[in-house]
Amino acid sequence: MKALTELLENKGKGAVTVPESASVAAAIRAMYESRVGSVLIPSASGTPVGILTERDIMRLCAEGKTDFEHMMLKDYMTTNIILGKPEDRVHEVLILMTEKRFRHMPVVKDGQILGLISMGDLVKAKLEETAQEAQALREYITS
Ligand code: AMP
Repeated sequence: MKALTELLENKGKGAVTVPESASVAAAIRAMYESRVGSVLIPSASGTPVGILTERDIMRLCAEGKTDFEHMMLKDYMTTNIILGKPEDRVHEVLILMTEKRFRHMPVVKDGQILGLISMGDLVKAKLEETAQEAQALREYITS
């Protein structure tokens, strides 16, 4: 059973961050340029204090709030973030994300951002694990 730390080793550590003082437009540009679906907003000490995802942008558009250059990130980011630990297990995080209906999990150690794991990363890891288990079972049956 894999842990988030192993996924980060494959994916690479770090996450796209934007300062709290930035505009929503700056966060959208950061997402677009880095080809990611979310940005983290760190405090001065580096701890994540907010997250903004594509889903938030879609909701703002639906609500007609689209003056992104003049909208401050701190007013629109999600602040009650659920954080993951490097030792958290893939299947546990998948269950949590499904129950809570979000697709991004910042991984934090000692208050510092180690990386960001998406639902896609978790599904990929789970599929690989399942394929390995199936192969081991096939070998066991035929040996
Ligand atoms: P997502 O499905 O990840 O695009 O996000 C759906 C909603 O959950 C958005 O409002 C996000 O800001 C929020 N969200 C995403 N990740 C987290 C997280 N780890 N903890 C709390 N809220 C989150």
